Amino acid sequence: MNPNSSLTVAQLNGILSIADDAIISVDDDQKIILFNQGAERVFGWKAEEILGKELNKLLPPRYHEGHHKHIAEFDRSGLEARKMAERRAIFAMRRDGTEFPAEASISKLAVGGTTIHTVILRDISARKAYERELEVAKERAEAAMQAKSMFLANMSHEIRTPLNAVIGMTSLLLNTRIDEEQRDYAQTIRASSEVLLTIINDILDYSKIEVGKLDIERQPFDLRRCVEESLDLLSSNAAEKNINLAYFIDDSVPAQLVGDVTRLRQILVNLLSNSIKFTHRGEVVVSVSARAGEDSLYEITFSVKDTGIGIPEDRQAELFQVFTQVDASTTRKYGGTGLGLAISKRLAEVMGGRMWLESEVGVGSTFHFTITVEASGSQLAHSFLQERSSSLAGRRVLIVDDNSTNRRILVKQSLLWGMVPSAAASAIEALDLVRHGHAFDVGILDMSMPEMDGLGLALEIRKYRDEYALPLIMLTSVANRPRDATLALVKFAAYLNKPIKPTALFDSLLHAMRIEPVHAQQARPRTSNGKLAETHPLKILVAEDNTVNQKVVQQLLAHLGYRADVVANGAEVLDALERQNYDVVLMDVQMPEMDGLEATRRLRARYGASGPRVIAMTANAMPGDREKCLSAGMDSYVSKPVELEDLRSVLIDVAGSGRNDVEDASPIIDRRRIDQLLELQDENNPTLASDIIQLFINDSPKHLQNIDDALAAGRAEDLLSAAHRFLSSIENLGAHRMRKHCMELERLGREGTLEGGEALLDSLRREFDIARQHLLTIVQSV
Ligand code: ADP
Repeated sequence: MNPNSSLTVAQLNGILSIADDAIISVDDDQKIILFNQGAERVFGWKAEEILGKELNKLLPPRYHEGHHKHIAEFDRSGLEARKMAERRAIFAMRRDGTEFPAEASISKLAVGGTTIHTVILRDISARKAYERELEVAKERAEAAMQAKSMFLANMSHEIRTPLNAVIGMTSLLLNTRIDEEQRDYAQTIRASSEVLLTIINDILDYSKIEVGKLDIERQPFDLRRCVEESLDLLSSNAAEKNINLAYFIDDSVPAQLVGDVTRLRQILVNLLSNSIKFTHRGEVVVSVSARAGEDSLYEITFSVKDTGIGIPEDRQAELFQVFTQVDASTTRKYGGTGLGLAISKRLAEVMGGRMWLESEVGVGSTFHFTITVEASGSQLAHSFLQERSSSLAGRRVLIVDDNSTNRRILVKQSLLWGMVPSAAASAIEALDLVRHGHAFDVGILDMSMPEMDGLGLALEIRKYRDEYALPLIMLTSVANRPRDATLALVKFAAYLNKPIKPTALFDSLLHAMRIEPVHAQQARPRTSNGKLAETHPLKILVAEDNTVNQKVVQQLLAHLGYRADVVANGAEVLDALERQNYDVVLMDVQMPEMDGLEATRRLRARYGASGPRVIAMTANAMPGDREKCLSAGMDSYVSKPVELEDLRSVLIDVAGSGRNDVEDASPIIDRRRIDQLLELQDENNPTLASDIIQLFINDSPKHLQNIDDALAAGRAEDLLSAAHRFLSSIENLGAHRMRKHCMELERLGREGTLEGGEALLDSLRREFDIARQHLLTIVQSV
């Protein structure tokens, strides 16, 4: 066939008939002039039956009018003939009157004087039905997921409550007189329960994220501190394995950000603990960089890089799913639940970022994540301490470390302060510099280096320079600090712990070179070395729902010499107080189940002013928050993130002060008395404590009656003996507040006067009611 010749009508019809879609043409009057085989199949009309009929026959009546308008609009639009005019979902009508969803396009073609409109139409009912099914299936799956997450959340909560009792009871047990073997068992119970609690908290956290119940805070925070605190939590783990821990914050990163510091720290701690867990030698380095976006928003990128075992490429993608681990065998070497990464990734996403990883087996892994946050203020992280650094400018510092990351950090930081650094990668290299007459004002030596360690190097250096000519700073991890007799010969000016922190480095440099801080009043308060717990022994309970925050506060307290118990919400605080007495509760204000304010109100209702001192930990810096805390019955507060020095001074405050309310200054019942009774219990007297309590409750009304009788009869000597007898059983139980009134009555009797006796008896009765309530709950708990 001649390729230039046109198709015949028959050929054209042939082609049209092959099409699956319905192809329908109408003339100026909307009469059907073409109806292909596809159209016959879709509509159920034969062409010969429908040709010449109105197009409306194929449309549900409700479209008839609209259809005309639509054609008119299309004509007015002046769009090219043959071009697809419009695609949209519509409904068409079969011969039997049933409707079906369709997708159609329309085009027009001018033929001679008339315009022919052609509609190409596809029946999409099957697809629509499929889509609907998918939608329903998706909704069902989501509902099931929600139900599962709710179940997980409830279950974890239910498990946590008794588990906290196990932990509380174990710590109670550890405070009693038990032998070494028993102590060992009890400590194992406590440690294992704490691990279990962490896992359950992870599950709870994850399910909270899944059901969208996780609220992200927006508070200004110091990024450098957040990174340092995360590293602090894990530095001892790293030191035990001899892994170098370091961090590096890029010049571009703002110092203060607005966001959720707790969640950020949670991600960092998760990634860091994984890196340390899966690394056997080398280092773990956190780096932070920033990219400025619009409206003072920054995308901050965090990278946690390790030199660990690495992750095979084909396993990398799935690790972010829950409960996945590279080695899932039951004999696996590394513990864990496989939840950490899933939680971390979701948290990063909730904070407007993402998470990904790069890894090579045997070389190491780098986990990256971003968050999108606002900067608070214009200060950059690197300008840290800048204004005070002029005293260091021009000083020559010798830096010796075999680890290149540490060297890089030290060199960079000293350059930022205007110092003149020289770096050596080994003791030999450093000695060369010193021997050849290089003058240094100060040296920073890493303790653990191959061949010659920091101590050996220092001894060599001392052959050339004494401690005045070249003060030396030793860089160690706490766990690896040497306890060698030769230390005394070297006279180190300061010790610096890894990871290297600019503040500590700055202070050590000033101290080593005996430089007075430029702005003495701005200098950080020197941390006193004495343990507060020795001068102010306190039993402390920490109430905080976030596990990482729990650890931070516990660690700060450990720093001060306290070993605190931890619970996760207000209800658990009340439970814990039923089991044992605490002097201080550090109470997070916002907690699930029961918040800190409510818990304090109930605590005060139950124990009055004699209950523990409550210190609020609050992120809210809103005016009025302090008043809210105090009016709920809290004694003081520290703002979050909690600072060591703030914590120290607030503890000194509350430990030293009685409560203001003089009337209630003494405890209803002195728990120590009960504890002593409990200690006296043995196989022969298994219920000694509760027996004595019961006896007291039963006998007291009789004593009260005797006092009443003595007053009514006006007999002072009877009053004296009645009050005296009652007093001894009151003292036996440590019912302090009753004691006060009873002693007064005894005094009246002794002095031979009855004046004011009725009022005192009333108070004593009231106090007895309170004490009885209190004792009954104690009986239930012992
Ligand atoms: P868990 O550590 O509790 O098992 P995660 O979700 O944190 O749970 O980690 C899941 C798995 O990912 C780990 O079990 C481990 O196989 C792998 N993984 C995570 N981080 C690293 C890392 N830094 N190096 C090697 N493997 C890792």
